[in-house]
Amino acid sequence: CGIVGVVGSSQAAPVIFDALRRLEYRGYDSAGIATLVDGRIERRRAAGKLDHLAALLAREPLAGVTGIGHTRWATHGAPTENNAHPHGTGRVSVVHNGIIENFEALRRELEAAGHVFSTETDSETIAQLVDFHLARGLSPRDAAFAALGRLEGAYALAMLFAGHDGLVIGARHGAPLAVGFGEQEMFLGSDSLALAPLTRRIAYLDDGDWVVVTRGGAEFFDATGERVERVARTTALMA
Ligand code: GLU
Repeated sequence: CGIVGVVGSSQAAPVIFDALRRLEYRGYDSAGIATLVDGRIERRRAAGKLDHLAALLAREPLAGVTGIGHTRWATHGAPTENNAHPHGTGRVSVVHNGIIENFEALRRELEAAGHVFSTETDSETIAQLVDFHLARGLSPRDAAFAALGRLEGAYALAMLFAGHDGLVIGARHGAPLAVGFGEQEMFLGSDSLALAPLTRRIAYLDDGDWVVVTRGGAEFFDATGERVERVARTTALMA
């Protein structure tokens, strides 16, 4: 129900965790964070309250300066640790808000192509679809664009890619997503509240947009893949 992404210059997991706290008001049943550590995807997930994720992170800290996080309100699959986001493969990790309406057809197609699913969620379909395109040699941005073209339903999402430190790709279709501009760090969040203490310079994706976020900035694209400008505005400080 809440999404956070960080392309940072210091440890990402604590920043993501604090931002998830600010999204708690939306309600959730489980939570998780993934980061890139030496180019590999590492993640921690927990059912229940963020305190459970905090305890796990205290026992097993998560390094890395690039990361994504999620608070889940389950729609497909029980609110277990295994169904908690981020979802993915060795190549890609995805957090998703919303519902993928055509996930059953996509899942059957991907399973027929040899993909093995490990959760009951609609969201894992997105990760497996991106993985399919990465496996056939597409770059992260081409794989993301190819996958987005197949998704029906509502989504805000953020994803990171093994071997691509400093890169997070986000997308918005029927669920809100904002980009925060920092000093040599960039953020993604479901709303300005999540981003408020991190930066006041925020750009909102239009519906159908997707965005390639790197440490130096953000490149926005519309649903057809055309480059578009989305201006960052300085928001008033929220109470
Ligand atoms: N449909 C997804 C799931 O059940 C995402 C739910 C959400 O928006 O948190 O895992």
